Amino acid sequence: MTAEVHWNTAWSIEEGVTRVTRLYETTFGEAPAGVWQAPGRVNLIGEHTDYNGGVAMPIALPHRTFAAMSPRGDMIVRLVSAQEPGVREVDLTQVGPHDSDKAVEGWPAYVVGVAWALREAGYDAVRGFDVAIDSCVPFGAGLSSSAALECAVAVGINDLFRLDLAGSAEEPNDTGRKTLVEACIRAENDVAGANTGGLDQAASLRCLEGHALFLNCRNGEVEKVPFDLASQGLALLVTDTRAPHSLSDGQYNERRSCCESAARNIGVEFLADVEDGDAALRALSDPTEVKRARHVIGEIARTYDAVRAMRRGALRADVLDEIATLFDASHDSLRDDYEVTCRELDLAVDVARSEGAHGARMTGGGFGGSCIAIVDADAVDRVAEAIADAYEREGLAQPHFLMAVPAMPAGRVQ
Ligand code: ADP
Ligand code: MG
Repeated sequence: MTAEVHWNTAWSIEEGVTRVTRLYETTFGEAPAGVWQAPGRVNLIGEHTDYNGGVAMPIALPHRTFAAMSPRGDMIVRLVSAQEPGVREVDLTQVGPHDSDKAVEGWPAYVVGVAWALREAGYDAVRGFDVAIDSCVPFGAGLSSSAALECAVAVGINDLFRLDLAGSAEEPNDTGRKTLVEACIRAENDVAGANTGGLDQAASLRCLEGHALFLNCRNGEVEKVPFDLASQGLALLVTDTRAPHSLSDGQYNERRSCCESAARNIGVEFLADVEDGDAALRALSDPTEVKRARHVIGEIARTYDAVRAMRRGALRADVLDEIATLFDASHDSLRDDYEVTCRELDLAVDVARSEGAHGARMTGGGFGGSCIAIVDADAVDRVAEAIADAYEREGLAQPHFLMAVPAMPAGRVQ
């Protein structure tokens, strides 16, 4: 039995610019002032650590969201997306938190939320604009299409209204970008009403091509660590399980409050502050809190171990072995202690491992989404086929596959 393998190939910059410019022109009847892009991301390790004040290690994907934009003289934002029906119009003076009488319906919340958050932060120069969106980042695949959307719009707004916070993708203004990250997080948390921890926005705005971003989510400090799989004959295969994950919002909030409660019971502000993990776990009486805290504390330690290994240089055999062990332990902990995997994720990971992957794990929030596996470059097709076949055998909808190469961060492309 051989299932057909579906590849989700990243658009070139030219293709993205052409598509989104055409959409802008057919919708608004003129050429846009410029085009900006922002990447989706995969997190290599450090899962469910961001909202615990911990560390994570994302890379930017070559899969991007493109935004064609022009400023307007007024406070109106007109929006169109190739991924959503219709043209929408929102008055920026009528935008507010999702639980207020100025709530914004649907996907425009991610876009106008960024403009609102920047104005809230004192950037009064931000006014209305017209924007067209197109993207090859799949929705809800754990690859951060929402952050890619926010960040593409953020760098666009930055340039249209001369906020001077972004620099270029090649020469980024990293300090300014921290302000844009904050605005994008507020757009997602406050306006779109999605309770996420900030890893995604930092990845899309602050990654560096060819590197992983070792990110301290507590203080925003970053270290850009070379991550060059290709020169070692390796590749990072992403399986987008396409598993339905309707429970994910409630589960995410439940995990988050369980961690907050565990931190309180241990007597620290964040689980990342725990120094003696064993003693901290002994201080907890609720068995669920023990499991959740054990994942977070262990995952933060694994992420430090991973960056220490990667700093030793190219992914030589000894470094690779260590990374593989850490990836595998991360997935097992997310499955057994944090309980955020699902049948599709576990299957993709198990098959990748049995096909010789150098470490495989789920990435992103879980309950569906994607898994990553480091594989020999010449084994990519074989591993993807084996996963597709296993899904077919189990009667699951076919997954999609992507190649993750550490790509550049958000910036202007036209
Ligand atoms: P992900 O893991 O992909 O970030 P989310 O649920 O956080 O999943 O965000 C997906 C949502 O973001 C979509 O349902 C939609 O509202 C919005 N979104 C993302 N990309 C686009 C796009 N290209 N056009 C319109 N809306 C988008
Ligand atoms: Mg998201």
